[in-house]
Amino acid sequence: MLRLGNLEAGSRHDLHVGISPDAPDESEIRDEEGAFGFVHSYETASRYDGPGLRIVLFVSGCLLRCSYCHNPDTWHLKDGTYVSAQQVIDRLGTFAGALRTLDGGLTISGGEPLVQLGFTRRILAAAKQMGLHCAIETSGLLGERADDRYLSSLDLVLLDIKSSDPATYRAVTGRDLAPTLRFAERLAATGKPVWVRFTLVPGFTDDPANVEGIARFVAPMKNVEWVEVQPFHQLGAFKWKAIGLDYKLADTQSAPPDLVNRVLEQFRAAGCRAR
Ligand code: SF4
Repeated sequence: MLRLGNLEAGSRHDLHVGISPDAPDESEIRDEEGAFGFVHSYETASRYDGPGLRIVLFVSGCLLRCSYCHNPDTWHLKDGTYVSAQQVIDRLGTFAGALRTLDGGLTISGGEPLVQLGFTRRILAAAKQMGLHCAIETSGLLGERADDRYLSSLDLVLLDIKSSDPATYRAVTGRDLAPTLRFAERLAATGKPVWVRFTLVPGFTDDPANVEGIARFVAPMKNVEWVEVQPFHQLGAFKWKAIGLDYKLADTQSAPPDLVNRVLEQFRAAGCRAR
C-alpha cells in the first residue's frame, strides 16, 4: 500500500531509491486526476533551469534510458516519494513571493514531467495562479500527451534534443527520435518559447554531422530563444554504481573547452543563439 511521504528539499545529485516499492511502473501510470504523485526532490535556488531564481521540482518516472543520465534514480516511480499535489503547492506557496521578486518561477524536471501528466498539470496550474513563470524540462518523447491546455500553462519549455540522427538517438536513449522532433515542430507552430538543450558527450554525441543536424533543424524556429550546450559530467556516476546498473560511460571524460567551443560555433554558424 502506498504511503504518503514528506516532500524533501535537496539536490538533484542526492540518491533516492526504493522509497515507494508499491508504485506502479512508469510506463503504466494513469494519473488523470493528479491529486498524488511521485517526487524525487526539489531545489530552492536554481539559476540554471529557466530565467531568474527558480524552484526546480524533480518528479519521478522517465521512459528513456540515456546512457549518460546523471539521475537514473528518477527513472522509476518506485524510487520517488509519494506526495499529494497539495503538499507541493503549499510548499511552493511559501516561496512564491520571493520567486516573483527575483523574476523567477517554477521548473518541473525529472525524470520526465509528462509521465505524471495530471500531477504536473495540477502543480503548474496552481503555480500560474500564484503568478509564477512556469517551465518544464522534457525529452519530448511524450509530447503528444500534453494537450493545448497543458501547454497554455507553460511560459517556457526546456527541450532536450539528444541527437539529430535516429540511430544515435536510439543508441543514446533506447527510444525513437521522431516524437521529440514532432513536439519541437508543434511548439514552433504555436510560438511557445523554447530553450533547446544538447548534452555534449565526447565520442558519443559530438560528431559534427550530428550537431549540424540539430542546428539546421532548430535554426529556423523563431520560438527557440537559446540552444544550451551542456558538457557531459560524471556527477551521476555514483548513482549507476549504487543502483547496480551497467554504466558504459565510466571512462568518458567531460567535454574539453575547445570541443564545447567548436559545437557552440556550429550552432551559431547555423543561425542559433547558443551558449
Ligand atoms: S531523459 Fe533525462 S531523466 Fe530520462 S534518462 Fe534521459 S537524461 Fe535521464
